[in-house]
Amino acid sequence: MGESVRQITRRDFFRFSGVGFAAGLAISCKSKTVEKALPYLNAQEGLTPGVAQWYATTCQGCSASCGVLARSRDGRPVKLEGNPDHPMNRGGLCAIGQAQTRGLYDPARLKQPRVAGQDCDWKIPRRRSGRPIR
Ligand code: SF4
Repeated sequence: MGESVRQITRRDFFRFSGVGFAAGLAISCKSKTVEKALPYLNAQEGLTPGVAQWYATTCQGCSASCGVLARSRDGRPVKLEGNPDHPMNRGGLCAIGQAQTRGLYDPARLKQPRVAGQDCDWKIPRRRSGRPIR
């Protein structure tokens, strides 16, 4: 083997791999838009900032409508647990049910009604349904 060809040792391999990993990590950690969740300006009565509240409700992930307990922080649901007192699921909650809070904060979530694939005003679906939409 000639003088110009250098053997890559195990130590060199790990050194180069470490540099590559660190560079990839630095690139992937580049900050994106910072979004802040602001607290209530006028808080609900009985709400203590930083203290979780629990509400009994039902999961809307499918037609089974399992009973859930929703943990809410500062007025925002953050976690769902199965309600052990509900006869449908007796405390169990499937993966779809566990992920239901993600839909609340999805940036792609619709922010207004759509008719025939087009954004529209709330008056149109109200008029079509013939009853008030809350
Ligand atoms: S927890 Fe699962 S099975 Fe129950 S309603 Fe939600 S999605 Fe359906």
